[in-house]
Amino acid sequence: MSYRGRFAPSPTGPLHFGSLIAAVGSFVRARARAGAWLVRIEDLDPPREVPGATQDILATLAAFGMVSDEPVVYQSQREAAYRQAFAQLRAQDLIFPCWCSRSDLEARNGLHLGACVSAPDSTRAPAWRVRAADREIHFIDFLQGPQSQQLARDVGDFILRRVEGWFAYQLAVVVDDADADISEIVRGCDLLDSTPRQIYLQQLLDLPTPQYLHLPLALDSDGQKLSKAFSARPVDRHDPLPALRAALDFLGLGDAVRGVEPNPQALLASAIAHFDLSQLRKHSAFAAGADCKA
Ligand code: GLU
Repeated sequence: MSYRGRFAPSPTGPLHFGSLIAAVGSFVRARARAGAWLVRIEDLDPPREVPGATQDILATLAAFGMVSDEPVVYQSQREAAYRQAFAQLRAQDLIFPCWCSRSDLEARNGLHLGACVSAPDSTRAPAWRVRAADREIHFIDFLQGPQSQQLARDVGDFILRRVEGWFAYQLAVVVDDADADISEIVRGCDLLDSTPRQIYLQQLLDLPTPQYLHLPLALDSDGQKLSKAFSARPVDRHDPLPALRAALDFLGLGDAVRGVEPNPQALLASAIAHFDLSQLRKHSAFAAGADCKA
């Protein structure tokens, strides 16, 4: 099977440095494997979306030399596929409606396991959870090494459809990656602990499990993950070189692009030509480039 990778931003704001690392890492890895690189916009959470963010992210990626090889997929248009997967799980009696409140969950250490403590309530919509497996899920991450998680103990029965009616990220990502024939998922380490849930759903839905490679996170000077929530500054699409160099440096690919003609395509081409998995940074760290001016 040929290599197919992807970058899946949520349109909650402009592309910031932390997301640029995931975009560049997934792009360079895909091209170094002579593979395709696809973009999926994860617009599944309307209250968190920022108008215009999708166009902004796509224009920024293009300015940095990265354009999806296939039409961009929008999760907001994929409800039928999620509905079908949901029905498949329901037919196997693997999911159940849950009316538990936050305080119900707090009384159980935040973990839902087994029967609901709350009674069914026909006056309001439930969330839908999948029963957590009482077993370890193992996988080997290409960069982070062997991983495992005991879903029942560590995560509990998790939500696949929210009270508001939206399908949850965990379900959507599994369905979308399978439909797009993604062979390897390269993304930030903040999603490392979601991966066992996704592998579990792949198993329940009889879908193939892709390879995984989780990139280190860029931390700010307080050791916090750089994210929109920490108001990391957006990268400047009108002056992509400083942020692109900083992202490549952060990933451990800085040497591959030293002295290269200063344009994004040339930097990426050199990073791809010299890509070496053993050179990739493994651990999250303070990112010197995180303050690239917007
Ligand atoms: N949409 C997620 C994010 O922006 C990434 C999901 C994924 O790569 O699986 O953090």
